[in-house]
Amino acid sequence: MTQPADIAVLKTQSMTHQEERLAAMEPEERAKVQRIAGHVRAMLEELDLDLQDPNLLETDVRVAKMYMEMFHGLKEGAEPRVTCFPNEENYTSMVMEKQIPFYSMCSHHLVPFYGHAHIAYVPGERILGLSKLPRILEFYAKRPQLQERLTEQVVKYLEEKLKPQGAMVVIEARHLCVEMRGVKKPGAVTVTSAIRGIFHERPIREEFLDLLRHA
Ligand SMILES: [Zn+2]
Repeated sequence: MTQPADIAVLKTQSMTHQEERLAAMEPEERAKVQRIAGHVRAMLEELDLDLQDPNLLETDVRVAKMYMEMFHGLKEGAEPRVTCFPNEENYTSMVMEKQIPFYSMCSHHLVPFYGHAHIAYVPGERILGLSKLPRILEFYAKRPQLQERLTEQVVKYLEEKLKPQGAMVVIEARHLCVEMRGVKKPGAVTVTSAIRGIFHERPIREEFLDLLRHA
């Protein structure tokens, strides 16, 4: 058991933390990180930043890896594997998961937008494991995104996979591209909604809003 610990000590002595993590990657992934890091470095140099500053020394690699993580949703095989169950109890009321937090990146400026989503559906023949709703949201959030499109994509996914009687998604988010630059409106919240099927009927929508307001 002492040998692996010794190796780990040797590694940290001769390599920086980032180098060590790069070395542990698959060659293809490592090459990708290094290519992206090269572009980030070029951009920072063009901005006349001092890349010898200890805090900027490995920023190129850090940013490359961060982008790869944040845009993971576009990767082949990143789709959440969603198990549907037959609706054996014939449950025909609303299923709702509210206040699901998410973080995404605005396609236009590549800065974050973040907030909460409220997702509901009225089952048809199939129901969904509850933990799946946040995973569906996260899958579509991990890519350059627009709030309007995110809202639509989640409701469309539910519609196609579950064939519910209806579905509704409301997203409330703050956009840093609005808050930090341009019109600078700190704290402004953008709300989007997407509706399918039975949710077009007013009483169902009111039930949704009622469940949203109360604990
Ligand atoms: Zn933006």
